[in-house]
Amino acid sequence: MATTHVLEQESNPWEQQAARFKIAAEKLKLDEGLWRVLQQPNREIIVHIPVAMDNGQLEVFTGYRVQHSIARGPAKGGVRYAPDVTLDEVRALASWMTWKCAVVNIPFGGAKGGIICDPKNMSRGELERLTRRYTAELIEFIGPEKDVPAPDVNTNEQVMAWMMDTYSMHMRQTVTAVVTGKPLNMGGSRGRREATGRGVMIICDESIKKLNMRREDTRVIIQGFGNVGSNAALLMHNSCYKVVGIGEWDGGLYNAKGIDIHALWEYRQKEGTIQGFKEAEKRATEELLVTDCEILIPAATENVISSSNADKVKAKILVEGANGPTTAAADEILADKHVFVMPDILANAGGVTASYFEWVQDRQGYFWKESVVNEQLEHIMVSSFEDVVRYAETHKVNNRIAAYMLAIDRVAYTIRQRGIYA
Ligand code: GLU
Repeated sequence: MATTHVLEQESNPWEQQAARFKIAAEKLKLDEGLWRVLQQPNREIIVHIPVAMDNGQLEVFTGYRVQHSIARGPAKGGVRYAPDVTLDEVRALASWMTWKCAVVNIPFGGAKGGIICDPKNMSRGELERLTRRYTAELIEFIGPEKDVPAPDVNTNEQVMAWMMDTYSMHMRQTVTAVVTGKPLNMGGSRGRREATGRGVMIICDESIKKLNMRREDTRVIIQGFGNVGSNAALLMHNSCYKVVGIGEWDGGLYNAKGIDIHALWEYRQKEGTIQGFKEAEKRATEELLVTDCEILIPAATENVISSSNADKVKAKILVEGANGPTTAAADEILADKHVFVMPDILANAGGVTASYFEWVQDRQGYFWKESVVNEQLEHIMVSSFEDVVRYAETHKVNNRIAAYMLAIDRVAYTIRQRGIYA
């Protein structure tokens, strides 16, 4: 019983963010009032969405949108579709968006949305109706100046196109800047699709430079082959990293000589899974997390590195492509092992940074070349890496706590300056 309780608590993302917030806020000597303000989301919206299913039945889905902070600008963050979405998870993810936007210093607050559903077992029509009704239910809470959704787990450019269209129909005009991560032909940005993976690679580049390593000698294992994992894998493969392992929800692959990621990508496009790919051996995803390598990139969901496996992690560098892949208990174990951790709120911030560029381009009505997007992204990621690492060294804290401290300090500063409206 006791163990179950500990594990339950360890796997609750809201508890996980609270644990890190507490350490960072104490180190910052954050005043109690601001502590109270920043530890609660600004607004939580729960909707129950009726959807006509293909079989003629009416189903009701529960959806959330949590706006954690609008202190530094409009709320910003993705929407995920999954059977295990919970309000606590969405709350935590919303607060991580606030800190993420503050770490990379872009003018957004933080938000997150989620719908409890099983998209793998829903038709395109059902997903479209679900998305449109969810958007309609949120109509007065979202908008280019209020809250700007984006893709997250199991949502994509098509879902963003439906959201943009639904919002625009209600406004009686096309409003492209209401969401980011849209298709290119309707106000999307060049480079947005690859941006999270590209950001992950930039953080790997900076980390190995700091530790005097070279790409050619760096073995990489990536858990997740969705938007973040696959783009990171492709870009890193092209840049001479040796990607030796790829793990997916239905099993993983390993090849000590390196996996040909282009071939794997094409295989997955054709087969719909990485299973059965011949040029690598089968290896369970849980095993890949503790397989020998220089860089481990969890790029799927929360809590994959916990007190139950952190002591077995062999990587020198952990780069969090996913949000919340490491529990607070695992942080301590990794610190004792001197693993160089690049926390989610920095490592996967490339996505929201390119979302910021998309929002700017939509509002300008002027679209940038891909090289401009990539250059600006690199500039922001490299300087944010330097900020976090310098902060960690100056304040003698680990990189995660440094990133939280930097972010909390920036948001708290703005709130103090704006004052509390009464
Ligand atoms: N869902 C992504 C994240 O967690 C992107 C959010 C955005 O672009 O607004 O960072």
